[in-house]
Amino acid sequence: MRYSESKEKTAELLRLALGHMGRHAAAFNPVTFTLWYEYIAGINPGLTTALDRLIKNESSLDDEAVIRLYKKHIAPADEETMNTIGGEMERLMASMAQSASHTGDRAGTFGDQLTGLTTALASRDVEQLKPRLTEVLAGTAEMKSSVEALRKQVTSSQEEINRLRSDLERARDDAILDPMTGILNRRGFEKRIESLLAQKPADGTSHCLVMLDIDHFKSVNDTHGHLMGDRVIQAVGEILRTSVTKAAHAAARYGGEEFALLLPDTSLDHSIHLAETVRTRTKAMRIRHRTSQEVLLTITISGGVAEMKADDDAASLIARADAALYQAKRDGRDRVTCA
Ligand code: GH3
Ligand code: MG
Ligand code: MG
Repeated sequence: MRYSESKEKTAELLRLALGHMGRHAAAFNPVTFTLWYEYIAGINPGLTTALDRLIKNESSLDDEAVIRLYKKHIAPADEETMNTIGGEMERLMASMAQSASHTGDRAGTFGDQLTGLTTALASRDVEQLKPRLTEVLAGTAEMKSSVEALRKQVTSSQEEINRLRSDLERARDDAILDPMTGILNRRGFEKRIESLLAQKPADGTSHCLVMLDIDHFKSVNDTHGHLMGDRVIQAVGEILRTSVTKAAHAAARYGGEEFALLLPDTSLDHSIHLAETVRTRTKAMRIRHRTSQEVLLTITISGGVAEMKADDDAASLIARADAALYQAKRDGRDRVTCA
């Protein structure tokens, strides 16, 4: 799950996020909060780079910049869900703010009462002291119940925030996952490649991209029908999904019958090895008749591997992997070629 921080940890993140929010011009809305939350939690490298740059330049984050960063770095979950969640979050925050301000008002009055008591004590006026003491005693009791009410509200709000967070996460997943294969869709791929490019590879490794394309797929559709074509795409998606074992590695369906592996901190040799694993597993796969188990077809896949260079952007890296893929096609398919 994207947000796996404990309740204690999120309380700390909330406190730190409020600190950042206070230093910038943008409104205190859930969108701004989400930006700073993900930044402090360190779970969104692209966003971290962008905000670090902004902080370094001492620029103030205004509402427009918030929206821009949100659209770019936080999953573009479907708008309706976002609006609902945003609305609920806003209501929650407004009621928290109201309770906090009520407790604040009460604390102000209590402070006045304490000052009154101190003055009475200093004047040694016994007549004055008694009513002041009574007043402070009552004030203490009220303060206690006011703080207790706030504490209860904070607890129940935290539970509600957790629920909203998992709704948001589901919406986010829907937006970046391919429903047919369960791996990243094109949008998920684009987000991931941007964060890959934003991070320098660890010492002694590199970032690699593998593009894969099923061979002669059109003839699968032509011979066996579109539904069988879909079944083949699902099966290849499953091979990719189970071939990436490191958490940082990602498999994506780039389009129709084209796939990609995004491999941060991975050597070129190891990336070629992973591409070869996908290729040989695809070749070994037998698509069978659902009841008779008769083998209906076998397929092959071609791959192109490219290693990220310092001056690469997404387009140039994809173009090199694509060029390698098309070289593999020209060389006879069912092979992996390196850029
Ligand atoms: P090559 O070896 O050169 O890659 O040949 P190819 O036949 O695989 O390539 P081509 O690009 O000519 O055809 C790809 C086909 O994939 C065309 C398109 O109808 C089909 N396709 C794309 N998306 C889907 C899908 O979601 N389901 C099915 N069943 N077919 C799809
Ligand atoms: Mg293709
Ligand atoms: Mg193809």
